[in-house]
Parts: sequence; C-alpha cells; structure tokens
Amino acid sequence: MDKTHGEIPTLGYQKVLAQLRRKKREHLKLLQRLVAQPSISAQNEGVRDCAELLASIMEELGVPAQIYETEGQPVVFGEIGEGDLTVLFYGHYDVQPPEPLEAWTTPPFSPTVRNGRLYGRGTGDNKGQLLTHLLAVHSYLEVLGKLPIKIKFIFEGEEESGSPYLADFVAEHQELLSADLAYTSDGPLHESGAPAIYYGVRGMLGLEMSLETASWDNHSGNKGGVIPNAAWELVRILFSMKDEQGRVLVDGFYDRVREPSEIDLELIANLEYHPWQIAKNFGVKKINLEKEEFYRRLTLEPTMTINGLTSGYQGQGTKTIIPAKASAKMDCRLVADQDPEEVFSAIKHHIEKMNPEVEVIQQGYMHPSRTDPGLPVSQKILKAAQAATGKKPVALPATGGSLPDYVWTKILGVPSIIVPYANADEANHAPNENLSLECFYQGIEISARAIYELSKK
Ligand SMILES: [Zn+2]
Repeated sequence: MDKTHGEIPTLGYQKVLAQLRRKKREHLKLLQRLVAQPSISAQNEGVRDCAELLASIMEELGVPAQIYETEGQPVVFGEIGEGDLTVLFYGHYDVQPPEPLEAWTTPPFSPTVRNGRLYGRGTGDNKGQLLTHLLAVHSYLEVLGKLPIKIKFIFEGEEESGSPYLADFVAEHQELLSADLAYTSDGPLHESGAPAIYYGVRGMLGLEMSLETASWDNHSGNKGGVIPNAAWELVRILFSMKDEQGRVLVDGFYDRVREPSEIDLELIANLEYHPWQIAKNFGVKKINLEKEEFYRRLTLEPTMTINGLTSGYQGQGTKTIIPAKASAKMDCRLVADQDPEEVFSAIKHHIEKMNPEVEVIQQGYMHPSRTDPGLPVSQKILKAAQAATGKKPVALPATGGSLPDYVWTKILGVPSIIVPYANADEANHAPNENLSLECFYQGIEISARAIYELSKK
C-alpha cells in the first residue's frame, strides 16, 4: 500500500471541513429527499425508483453514476477522482419493511426532524450513512475542485433481503470495483458514543438435525424400556458435540481457526471492560470471563449454538409417551480461516458416526472475513475516526455478528473496514427509526477525514 498519490495540504482539508459545516442544512435536505422515496426490497416497493433517485443525486453532487442490472435489484455504481489509491465505499439504499405503521409517530417515508433527530425508515440504515460519503466527496469537489484519491461507490438494493446477488456481482465486475480498501458504514456507534471500527466479521453456518425412531409416539409404559426414544437420542448426540467449557468436540472443527495476531490482542487490550455492565445489557447474572477471554470468544473464536429443540409433548399436564421424532436447529459463528462447507461436513460426519439415521440439513452460510488491523490503511482509518470525533475509537478485530464482508476480502481480494456512523439507539428495523443529526454530520466529517488520511503518504 506504499503508493504515491495527490496528498492535499492541511489547509485544503480545513477548507473542506469549513465548507461541510456551512452546508449542514442542504445536506439534511438531501437526506430527507432520499428517505422520502420508499425502497422496500422485501416487498419490491420503490426500489428501482430509489436507485434512479440515488444515481441522480450522485450526479448532482458531481459523481458520475451508473445503474447496473443484476438478477435482483439494481446496483448503483459511481466513480470519481484520480490517484494511485482507490477506496470503494459500500452501502445499501434499500430499507426494511416499515410495519407496524401505527407504531410510527410520523409516517416512515415522511422524514421529520424531532429533538435533533431525523425520523424515517432508512435514515440510519442505511441512506444517511451512505450519503455521508457522497457529501464528503462533494465538499472536496466544491472547495478544491478535485479529490486527492480515487473513489468508487457501490450501493446495492437488496441488503435487507440478504444480498442474494452481491457476491455474483462482485465476482463479475472485479475490474470495475478494483480498489485498495473497501469501506462500509452501517450499524451504530459504540454505546458510549465513541466511534466503532471493525476489521472483520464472523461468518455463519445454519443447520438442522432431525431423527425419527418410530412411526408414532408410543406408550411410555407398555413399550417403555424396549424401544428407542428420539428425544434421548437427540440429547445424547448434542451432548457429544460440546464439552462443559464450551469447546466444540467435533473433529476438525478448529482446524483452520486463525491464531490471534499480536495486534488483534493489542486491540482487545485497549478496550474498556465492565463485565457487570455487559451482564446487565445481556440480561444474564454475570459474565465469568477475563477481558481478553471475553473478546477472543466474541470475535476471534467460533461458536456452536443450539437455537431450538423440538420433541415430544409440550402441552398442559402430562402425556406419557416415548417421542418418535426429535429435531434441533443450530448455528455456528465462524472465524477466519474456517470454511463453512468444510465445517458442515465435519459436523455431519460427527453426527453420522453417532447415529447414521439422523438427517442433517444445511441452512445457508456466510463466510467469515478478516482484515489485518496493522495494515497502513487500517491505521489511517483508525486515526481518521479519532481525529474527526475527538474520541478514542472502540476498535475490534471483528464483529460478533455476520455481514457479507467476505465479498470484498475474499472475492475482490481487498482489505475491508467497517465504520458505523449511526446513533446506538437508531431503532433500525424497528418503528421510529432515526438518525441523530449530530451523528449524520459527524459521519460526513469522518468520511472527509478518512479521505484526507488515506491521501497522506
Ligand atoms: Zn438493516
């Protein structure tokens, strides 16, 4: 990443900053325009209109934009600037369904400012956040007439429906999207109000196992002791899959788990840790882990979770039966460099060894993704977030949850960093979704600062 590019003087950046502080009112108006256009991917409502609106807003802001068709909703792409370093901003212009409508104080697609927040579906997730990057770029163009680096934008219209065509689109447009860094702003800041930075995500593997030991539920007395019980059999198998310390006992499960690097552990060491507060937030009595162990388990180690168990009689009173059927739904959160298909085969193999009659079905997966926090671009983004907010960022090696971040790191082959801009109580996916104006304006400044830091040699 030691490339030369058009570094801008501090004074130039100060002018950009002054400009975007002058333009707050216009920026808010633009966000209101974008939010007022429904774009509900789950219901295919207004999504294409929104893609067209977004492309025209980009053009108005000086960013040449183009709409690309996919098998699903269109992708809006934009590109501007010159320089050896290219950053690719990713966002999504589709939104979650707004229902239940009666729970909204003001209608979801009539964006309204109240108490320093803009209320409306998509304000925080993700229209407000994707717009910050465009507005930062616009300010550079207005003030300096140019950008110090090359910038690309990819905005998809189906994130809220699981990004079914994003991986294909990225695979088919590698040259178009080629970059030195992918940058995503989605989700909330840390609860403390400090900026959050994630250098990766955990992957996910869903599965379901089921077994049938008889053609019907039998009498537990008349047949008791002579025929198998599906519930006991399921429990026996599950018990063989994990020990009391929570370690997964499936052969090969941990084979590809990447050892934490020194810098991963350094990030964790820099975090604040209040286990009692976390326990309260999680609704548990206490957290019995030291800081490093807690964050290693949450971000750098895989999990195996029983999501639900079904068997036998669960109604009122008693029913003395031997259950004929039992099933369990499970998910595994995966970390680099685990491969979801490989992990699934290992689990399937383990279950087959325990009982070849159990049916194991895979229910979708997402690859894990990691970017080295020690890379120069990683450090520059950390510096940008701190400089723009005046607060020490909460930087984690990965999020505990899953996002399709692997499309950048694995398919496109570039580092990828997630820098959320919304308020922690943005109520995304819920009624009265909102984006605090302070977070919106701060987001624009973080993006502007990131462009500035990336332009430095
Ligand atoms: Zn969302």
